[in-house]
Amino acid sequence: MLGPEQDAPSFVHADWGGSACDIGLYSSRKRHVRESPADRSGCQLAFQAVAKPTFKTPKGTRDILPGEADRQRALVNTFGEAARRAGYGHVMTPMFEDLGVFKRLGEATDVVTKEMYDFEAKDGKRYALRPELTASVVRAFVQHRPLIPWKVWYEGPQFRYERPQAGRYRQFSQVGVEALGTDDPAIDAEIIALAWDFYATLGLRQVTLMLNSLGDATCRPAYLDALTAYFNDNLSLLSEQSQYTLQVNPLRVLDSKRPEDQAVIDAAPIMVDFLSPETGEHFAGVRRVLDRLEIPYDISPRLVRGLDYYTRTTFEFTSTALQGSQNAIGGGGRYDGLAADLGGPATPGIGFALGVDRILIACDEEGVFGAPSSLVDVFIIDVTGGDEAAVIGSQLQTAGIATDRAYDARSMRAQFKVADKSGAPIAIVIGEDELAAGTIQIRTLQGEEREQTSVARTTLIEELKKRLT
Ligand code: AMP
Repeated sequence: MLGPEQDAPSFVHADWGGSACDIGLYSSRKRHVRESPADRSGCQLAFQAVAKPTFKTPKGTRDILPGEADRQRALVNTFGEAARRAGYGHVMTPMFEDLGVFKRLGEATDVVTKEMYDFEAKDGKRYALRPELTASVVRAFVQHRPLIPWKVWYEGPQFRYERPQAGRYRQFSQVGVEALGTDDPAIDAEIIALAWDFYATLGLRQVTLMLNSLGDATCRPAYLDALTAYFNDNLSLLSEQSQYTLQVNPLRVLDSKRPEDQAVIDAAPIMVDFLSPETGEHFAGVRRVLDRLEIPYDISPRLVRGLDYYTRTTFEFTSTALQGSQNAIGGGGRYDGLAADLGGPATPGIGFALGVDRILIACDEEGVFGAPSSLVDVFIIDVTGGDEAAVIGSQLQTAGIATDRAYDARSMRAQFKVADKSGAPIAIVIGEDELAAGTIQIRTLQGEEREQTSVARTTLIEELKKRLT
């Protein structure tokens, strides 16, 4: 027998149940975010005595549980719909590629040198989990040679071996678009507008767009010469890391966030002063269309971004609702040389990737785009044994009404408890009397006044649709 304080199972959050609740805490931490059904269903598991799990998610990864995962799916669907309306088709590429595909991103970038999950497979070939999708999409373009312009959108997880912290994971999700086959400045502005409008559709207001032109092969070399000379003149003022970066890729010194580098970077020559007439005109064209679309932007002459392939237009979206170093919620630019680099015909291209995980944190901070308050419209309470719930559930789902139910022939009271927790706005109740009379009770579960009405079973779908619109 257990003494009062001896080895009694302690009623703590089960690690697996608890993590569902943790997600709930995480999303309801912010004032405006509604509690999701997952928070509740997760918390049903909370008071159980369980041992520590043997396995947990690898460092830098996380389980995204129902509720939060449904919210993420809703975000992806919203993005996909917006992209489809702008003429972008959905593309899906493998999660791993020949290592060489990603090596083309630039041997001097952290993503390639330090952060890639590369491995040798059983066939002896070297592959890498994709750290981003542009290279995969351009590889697909080169492989399939579709008609141009080829406008596609994508979504899915990316993998980078980074130091995990809030808003920075080793597996994270992106949505994005790529457009290959034209360098019309109108498409640069089109994709920037697509991202901008998408953030607005989610309800985000604290988004800033930073814009730059990185020039092209005709004018960038002169700029790089000037930049390198300037940094060499000020070498002793630069951090040790930036002195090293200067040897490999002078442009990336501009990306340093180290405080000791900032004064030197602030006074460095800027690319826009070196643009050739053609690239200058292209940049002006992009800005002109953005102005017409009334999309505000800051010209950010030191914006270089993380990957080496960018040419001409580059841009980044930040959220002022997020903390400093993790405040980028998306970015992209032109990569006119990448298709040729991957063995295809010289083809201009432009795209962006938006960080889904971080966008959702920004949504939490701004109190917008919360988790759906319920996954279902109707909760079925069947006190005749449970078969009726199966039949009615199937009929309602076929008619497009999302339903859930209780199991194990529980009492009416117990079933109502589950119905309340489900967050469904309506319950329908079927007992022996209703079964005999061919009726069903419809009961509202939300709001001050809980109404209950009896309707003929034959009109149930119609009655529910009226109430759900
Ligand atoms: P990039 O592919 O580096 O241009 O990143 C595009 C967007 O993906 C960034 O603006 C972030 O929102 C997001 N992102 C990049 N790396 C991570 C990461 N390790 N964890 C979470 N989000 C990320």
